[in-house]
Amino acid sequence: MSLSIIESCVNCFACEPVCPSEAIYEAKPHFLINSKKCTECEGDFADPQCATICPIEGAILNALGEAINPPGSLTGIPPEKMAEAMAELQAH
Ligand code: SF4
Ligand code: SF4
Repeated sequence: MSLSIIESCVNCFACEPVCPSEAIYEAKPHFLINSKKCTECEGDFADPQCATICPIEGAILNALGEAINPPGSLTGIPPEKMAEAMAELQAH
């Protein structure tokens, strides 16, 4: 089983050094996880270290394709409030 990094990754480099399996590598256009190396941190840590440190909601998915840090989980801003704020900004 492996996690994956998707296009919302901002290439901040935070996850690469914390991976115990050296599964994360710099690539274009964004960092990637080698699914053959990723252990989901099992045996090393209780939580996947990459997802724990990643500052971008939704950038890292679990093996089922679900965001480990879904919208609102890091900012504390409920997704509907964020949508309202974005709509407000675009209206001006
Ligand atoms: S879940 Fe763990 S092993 Fe897999 S890429 Fe993230 S830090 Fe590395
Ligand atoms: S911590 Fe998140 S945003 Fe930063 S490089 Fe890794 S996946 Fe991309």
